[in-house]
Amino acid sequence: MDYDVIIVGAGVVGCAIARELSRYRWNILLLDKEHDVTRGASGRNSGVVHSGVQVPPGSLKATLNIAGSKQFPKFCRELGVPYRRVGKLIVAQHKRELATLAQMEKDAEKSGIADLKILDKPQLKQREPYINGIAALSSQGEAIFSPYTLNIALAENAQLNGVHIKLNTQVSEIDRSKNKFKLITNNGAYSGRYLVNRSGVWADKLAELAGISGYRIYPCRGEDWVRDKEWAKMINSMVYPVPVAGSGGLGIHLTPAIDGNILIGPSAEYINGREDYRTTRPILNRLYREARQLLPSIDRRYFIAGYTGIRSKLCRPGSTGFSDFLIQEEPKVKGFINLLGIESPGLSAAPAIAQLVRKLIAKGLKLETNPDFNPIRKPKTSFNNLSIAKKAAQIKADPLSGEMVCRCEQVTRREVVAAIQNTLGAKSVSAVKYRCRAGMGRCQGGYCLPRIVDMLQEHTTEEITLHGPGSHMFIGSTKELLKCYSKTGN
Ligand SMILES: Cc1cc2nc3c(=O)[nH]c(=O)nc-3n(C[C@H](O)[C@H](O)[C@H](O)COP(=O)(O)OP(=O)(O)OC[C@H]3O[C@@H](n4cnc5c(N)ncnc54)[C@H](O)[C@@H]3O)c2cc1C
Repeated sequence: MDYDVIIVGAGVVGCAIARELSRYRWNILLLDKEHDVTRGASGRNSGVVHSGVQVPPGSLKATLNIAGSKQFPKFCRELGVPYRRVGKLIVAQHKRELATLAQMEKDAEKSGIADLKILDKPQLKQREPYINGIAALSSQGEAIFSPYTLNIALAENAQLNGVHIKLNTQVSEIDRSKNKFKLITNNGAYSGRYLVNRSGVWADKLAELAGISGYRIYPCRGEDWVRDKEWAKMINSMVYPVPVAGSGGLGIHLTPAIDGNILIGPSAEYINGREDYRTTRPILNRLYREARQLLPSIDRRYFIAGYTGIRSKLCRPGSTGFSDFLIQEEPKVKGFINLLGIESPGLSAAPAIAQLVRKLIAKGLKLETNPDFNPIRKPKTSFNNLSIAKKAAQIKADPLSGEMVCRCEQVTRREVVAAIQNTLGAKSVSAVKYRCRAGMGRCQGGYCLPRIVDMLQEHTTEEITLHGPGSHMFIGSTKELLKCYSKTGN
């Protein structure tokens, strides 16, 4: 089949573009090399909708960030994704930082951001009793949401509206002839008139496949700690330090996650491997040390997990730290819509990025509204969030709701079955986890993992993996391994 538009990369931005384009009568294909959506930066970040404070005024980043964040409440409402405005505090700990706070307030006002205020020490203490600081810039526009839930919701809604989604499909060659792009993948060949490159840390390499050179992505890893839910109430808002000038980062901050944990991080470290997701002891130690400067009573015993995400930076190590988003139709390769350097605030800007891409495509393709477009995805209320009475009624109506598979996150058998039967066809332990949170709690899957594996066995004939092809969990029965061992001695 020939497509009007092929989008490479099913992260939040790729999926937001797919959904936006599905408002029109275009044939759209969305490809990703991974077995599920949300495997890149979109499932590995802080889940913050930034209002635009700390983004240089006048940049494309600032414009799209501000426009995107204004659309976020409706975006999340339509897609059934929890969203909560909690605001942000940038906290000064030394007198010498006060001038920077004042300058940040001025810059943010220049970008048109409202709801800003400098708090003095008593006001800061009143708002955040456990936070250490002498003053803070308060910005009320920041919100939190679940980035992987949004990514999945966008993909499901795009699919509902006619977008073809192909996972486990890695683009390895691009041929441009007769005004079309032909993409060769491990999963067939596809052709399309427009090609949208939203392949994250690989975006420069994908552009090279189409003969576009001169771009380079510098991967920059961010590590985070996740703190147990038990202590969620220690902060009410996001808490940031005053950033170090020229660092390009926001500094190690504390974020109350929408599901009740506190996230501590992320660090910023240029690395060579584009998918080197390991967490490292020295960085995690540093996060703890720096977090304690803001929140002295934080205790390491309640850290339950670490994770990393990789920023796709256009600015090289050692430069000033700022590079703008690059979003354009490549002048020399018509129809190739290139998106590079979509690092933070890429999530916050996603709705506006999608609209910009639609405008670029509409210059060459006729814009006819899809009369069947349905923006709504039914929200999935988790069992854990129901009242006792509703829980009782649900168990009565559906016995599968009465069996608890994940005790920490209170996820029922019914919810795990629904996650396994997802419309995108992703079947792995991680696909289940990102859809219903089973395994994300305090014991990190210690209790529920064998149960989830059993259920996967019941519902799928495919090999059970941790996160798609190559991530094997089982290599055979113990008896067979022992037999093999006794024969070979290895
Ligand atoms: C630590 C960290 C914290 C962050 N915090 C925030 C925040 O709080 N707020 C915010 O607004 N932003 C934040 N960001 C930025 C945000 O996460 C990104 O801007 C956003 O997720 C980018 O989404 P994407 O869809 O462009 O890319 P990705 O999510 O990286 O998706 C790219 C996709 O392309 C696929 N792909 C690559 N090559 C190929 C190929 N050859 N063939 C097929 N598929 C391919 C990959 O598998 C991947 O799924 C953070 C980023 C990091 C790393």
